[in-house]
Amino acid sequence: MLLFYKHLYRFVGLRKTISYYLSVTPKHKMSNACFESHNAPGQHCSDTTRGSFNIPTGGPFVDIGAGKKRLKVTYFKFAARRSYTVLYDNRESIDDRPIWECNCPDFEFNDRQQNRTCCKHIQACIDKAEGTTRTGGNYEQFLVEHIT
Ligand SMILES: [Zn+2]
Repeated sequence: MLLFYKHLYRFVGLRKTISYYLSVTPKHKMSNACFESHNAPGQHCSDTTRGSFNIPTGGPFVDIGAGKKRLKVTYFKFAARRSYTVLYDNRESIDDRPIWECNCPDFEFNDRQQNRTCCKHIQACIDKAEGTTRTGGNYEQFLVEHIT
């Protein structure tokens, strides 16, 4: 009987994992990005010699450790600002996942706070924390400062 419950537990756990990925994966989109110095007005990152990236957006909020962090992320592509501020707070998590926030238009217009999905700036912070690199070179330079 104990063995039965063990298997049932595993099965339910697996189903949860599968449904989680099914709910998350289709929402992933790739967003291109490049450095300001390699992106003349009107180029939309299409004519860069280096530092051209595809960053997934719409992924789930990821836990990168305890506490609260404030990160400054440089401009990606054409933008109204030179940098965005990304906030991370793991002190008040929802569904075992922390709170992320970014002051970019994508985060606001796509209701990412309510949907709990990442813009490319948040994804870049997660990538940095997890040591993920993306092709294009110098990806980590998008993160100028870890403010607090
Ligand atoms: Zn953002």
